[in-house]
Amino acid sequence: MAGLGSSSPAGPTAGLGSRQPREPTAGLCPPCRRGQPQHPGVPARGRAIFPRAGPRPTPPARQYRRRVKSPPVPHQRALPRMPRGHGRRGRRTVAGGSPAPDVSSFWWPGWHPRMSRGDMAKPLLGHWSMEGDPSITPAASRTIGVLGSGDFARSLAIRLVCSGFKVVVGSRNPKRKAGLFPSAAEVTFQAEAVKKTDVIFVAVFREHYSTLCDLADVLVGKILVDVSNNTEINHHKESNAEYLASLFPACTVVKGFNVVSAWTLQSGARDGNKQVLICSNNQEAKRTVAEIAQVMGFTPVDMGCMSSAREIENIPLHLLPAWKIPIFLALGLFLCFFTYNLIRQVIHPYIREQKNKLYKIPIEVVNTTLPCVAYVMLSLVYLPGVLAACSQLYYGTKYRRFPDWLDQWLQHRKQIGLLSFFCAALHATYSLCLPMRRSHRYQLIETAVKQSTLGFIALVISTLHTLTYGWSRAFDENQYKFYLPPTYTLTLLVPCTVILAKVIFSLPCIQQRLLRIRRGWEKGRYVKFVLPSATGEYSSGETSSNV
Ligand code: NAP
Repeated sequence: MAGLGSSSPAGPTAGLGSRQPREPTAGLCPPCRRGQPQHPGVPARGRAIFPRAGPRPTPPARQYRRRVKSPPVPHQRALPRMPRGHGRRGRRTVAGGSPAPDVSSFWWPGWHPRMSRGDMAKPLLGHWSMEGDPSITPAASRTIGVLGSGDFARSLAIRLVCSGFKVVVGSRNPKRKAGLFPSAAEVTFQAEAVKKTDVIFVAVFREHYSTLCDLADVLVGKILVDVSNNTEINHHKESNAEYLASLFPACTVVKGFNVVSAWTLQSGARDGNKQVLICSNNQEAKRTVAEIAQVMGFTPVDMGCMSSAREIENIPLHLLPAWKIPIFLALGLFLCFFTYNLIRQVIHPYIREQKNKLYKIPIEVVNTTLPCVAYVMLSLVYLPGVLAACSQLYYGTKYRRFPDWLDQWLQHRKQIGLLSFFCAALHATYSLCLPMRRSHRYQLIETAVKQSTLGFIALVISTLHTLTYGWSRAFDENQYKFYLPPTYTLTLLVPCTVILAKVIFSLPCIQQRLLRIRRGWEKGRYVKFVLPSATGEYSSGETSSNV
């Protein structure tokens, strides 16, 4: 959609505060290295840097002039240019005679100027310091309505106010709920709120949508943003947004913001989830909501028409989708190695020597299994890379798609690696439960695996350890229980293959070829050309070039 991604024409930062700077309340500001107290204030959309507080507050313009001369600190780069003649020494006015922007009222404990460029520098509800301050004037921009006064509505209202919007909250009991919202947000009855705005976030549960039907007349022609989620995947026949649209056919419904939690709205997208998925049948309405999302610091993602609403509503219910395959892989490996070790360590002695070794199951068998899983999983992190290199060498190009299974495998390497280290950590914990004489055996592999940043080195050291540990056992007849080789001998298969392949790929002739392929060279795709010299004009010679 063309409109997605463009910022709001309304200047939501304009109205951010008109209060006087407050006294410093926190420690020094380390990144500025000027010894001044920690900055108060929250920027609007990361564009404005506000005057530092101190015994004698610096006017905004003066602060700006200084920064122009000195090299900018990263979080101070995008300062808006102040009009000449404004904000001179001691004056706190900006163009138009309005008070200079000061958002000291947006300060909250823990806020730091480094956050100013981020989209998350917004206060937590508990630390909202704007309450009861009449000098705060909301931005002269779009008014946004919010129906409901629950957790999501409150977080949304705070975020909207911080982003410079005027907010009007519609509640069934405005008197009681008003105290929960920042004073900049107007809390009134639902019908009153709806009349004052064209864009309304419906922050009530689907079950209560029907109670809003009384508002149908005043809602005609308005944009309703459905933020609701379900408790089960495909809970209802139609999506919540479609249901809302069916209740209010004279309105335009846009699905969005449901993948953002109330917490993320308040604290900012620190967990990396900045995307707001939006869908609607009306392009204009979708663009309007996308612009609002962008001004709020989120990244709007156009998900198409309203039929996508169901999919969007299911997204928060999918728990860690990228982890599903790696977790099943780890569990599968664990089960295999556990059974294998159980046969060798418990069942074999019981059948052959009538010895009851069931006590070994909870600690010893598990502890023998965990490093095996960790070790094999660590090698499985590198194996797809090796297979990919083989494929590239074989086809002589990097522009050929890998098979789907390899593609999936490559995409899950991070999770497989993390699970490998989790197993290694569990193994280390388990080893502490064993007598020292046993734990020393695993010392080397633990040390290796703990070096989480040195994945491949850990793999090599683990292999060396397993080889030295298992070498004598590999040739010991007694170690073959039911003709099953010792577990560590078995686990060596995949890592040894990976290491061997890596060694082969590091041979200069293969490495060079692989490097060329990865830089775009392709086998058999030459343009042969003859230099003019070959025609006898200059010196003779034929060469070829890769395209
Ligand atoms: P909540 O705390 O229970 O708030 C729901 C609000 O709905 C109430 O405060 C109430 O406000 C209003 N409401 C209107 N008509 C109602 C009725 N007939 N009965 C009961 N309440 C009625 O829920 P929430 O956590 O804010 O969630 C609201 C919506 O946001 C839900 O659809 C949810 O799926 C969605 N959502 C929430 C989150 C989250 O993190 N919480 C995240 C994404 C999406 P008044 O009493 O003032 O009218």
